[in-house]
Amino acid sequence: MYLRYFGDSVLRAKCLDVECFDKSLTKFAESMFKVMRENDGVGLASTQVGNNRRIVIVLPPGKPKPLVMINPVVTSKSESRVVYEEGCLSFPGMYKDIARPSEISVQYSDLNGQKFELDAEGMLARIILHELDHLDGKLFIDHLHWWARVVLTTQLRMKLIFNRG
Ligand SMILES: [Zn+2]
Repeated sequence: MYLRYFGDSVLRAKCLDVECFDKSLTKFAESMFKVMRENDGVGLASTQVGNNRRIVIVLPPGKPKPLVMINPVVTSKSESRVVYEEGCLSFPGMYKDIARPSEISVQYSDLNGQKFELDAEGMLARIILHELDHLDGKLFIDHLHWWARVVLTTQLRMKLIFNRG
């Protein structure tokens, strides 16, 4: 398992629900956590490690233990939005101001298939929304104005070509 970067088509994959809650799912989540920790991340989605199942890991601010969310669905989000600088492990060193709802409710299953509902705000809400976007093949740069996105993706693609030599 390794981290996928912008340019890898798997980052645009739409993920499918997890139906089997078995030991291999737990192992997979543990491997994801390892990748996230090695890269100093606070969240990671399955597409970022080349998988297309609806699995995300988030590290709630100030908490040592990650939250594994299987088949997460946002059930409500606030009208009020906040703009904050955001990054993504698949875009090393890049940070952009992104507007997102300040409060959300999310339903998800844990690794045993038990269902939970969580109300989140602030940074935790932002991390969850960012990771859930990944499950639909959506990236944080998709939230930028179209022209900013065009300029940015052109720069990123040039860099990819340049780095390949
Ligand atoms: Zn990301």
